[in-house]
Amino acid sequence: MTSLPLVFDAPKRGLPPRHLVDLSAEERQAAVVELGERPFRARQLSNHYFGRLTVDPEAMTDIPAASRERLVGELMPRLFTEVRALTCDEGATRKALLRAHDGTLVESVLMRYPDRATVCVSSQAGCGMACPFCATGQGGLTRNLSTAEIVEQVRLAAAAARDGRLGGGPVRLSNVVLMGMGEPLANYRRVIAAVHRICDPAPAGLGISQRSVTVSTVGLVPAIHKLADEGLAVTLAVSLHTPDDELRDTLVPVNTRWKVAEVLAAARHYAERTGRRVSIEYALIRDINDQPWRADLLGQLLHQYLGALVHVNVIPLNPTPGSQWDASPKPVEREFVRRVNAAGVPCTVRDTRGQEIAAACGQLAAQG
Ligand code: SAH
Repeated sequence: MTSLPLVFDAPKRGLPPRHLVDLSAEERQAAVVELGERPFRARQLSNHYFGRLTVDPEAMTDIPAASRERLVGELMPRLFTEVRALTCDEGATRKALLRAHDGTLVESVLMRYPDRATVCVSSQAGCGMACPFCATGQGGLTRNLSTAEIVEQVRLAAAAARDGRLGGGPVRLSNVVLMGMGEPLANYRRVIAAVHRICDPAPAGLGISQRSVTVSTVGLVPAIHKLADEGLAVTLAVSLHTPDDELRDTLVPVNTRWKVAEVLAAARHYAERTGRRVSIEYALIRDINDQPWRADLLGQLLHQYLGALVHVNVIPLNPTPGSQWDASPKPVEREFVRRVNAAGVPCTVRDTRGQEIAAACGQLAAQG
């Protein structure tokens, strides 16, 4: 079979044009001055973006009309067009399909809970980690997202929540989880910069508490150690999925490089440096990783490595198209959770949102 040189038709894939969010405070001022404007315009623009969550020149009445369009055009180019927004769970879950400047598709999911609103954002378009149970993993990596593209998903969600586009009326966006498409720690520098923009108080950032931000990883050990030294108070989530190397080598292929023991040692380093409890993610798959002995081994290892600084989130597997795998039956799930708890490790089942709109964990494949 011959393969056509599709590359000629493919849209140019690359990082977006310069954006305010990608620049430091000094760089913003310099950029504004370069455009022939007074330096304080940089702060005004930042206030509109981070404080008022707007990129609409019409709303920027503190900036002369003649300057607005140009400043916005040069420093806040449109990063995404919302192609589709789907809601389910009686309006409490909203998935946005976003198209970037080069045609790349990205998804983010906004969820309302009784006490908070959380957005799940993507850090890459596609993913290179190839976990066989994850829809995104099947398509491979398209490209990294820029810092501005990561933050823009949060801004759009914060504005949607504030403006009452979630069922139940207006709500403040309180939590951000980097658990959408992609491996955050494989796009390390941009993700760290995005965390600063998400957490710094306005006008430098969106003012969301670091403790309310979760960075989820397959277990890139050197990057976890590096993250521990950033001086951030974000929650680290590690997608473990099984306590034994033999099975983890297939469920999370990067395990062939960094073994369970190394991943847990890195998680311990993170917990010790930050004092933060680490989340262990465990997608429970029928007859694959749901055996009582695995629950016992998981509890024992986590107790040994992390003591009190750990919490296990069991995620019932969301079957992806074409996969033979399924979630475990409820009694098996209950027994699994019971055994992990019995080892002294807090373990709960994560509620799965957005199933009817393919917005649940691992379903963000954005095919168009
Ligand atoms: N690459 C990062 C973050 C993105 S995935 C990571 O792996 O942690 C977010 C979580 O959803 C991960 O724990 C991932 O393993 C899980 N997940 C992926 N596909 C899933 C599926 N089909 N069912 C349940 N959880 C899934």
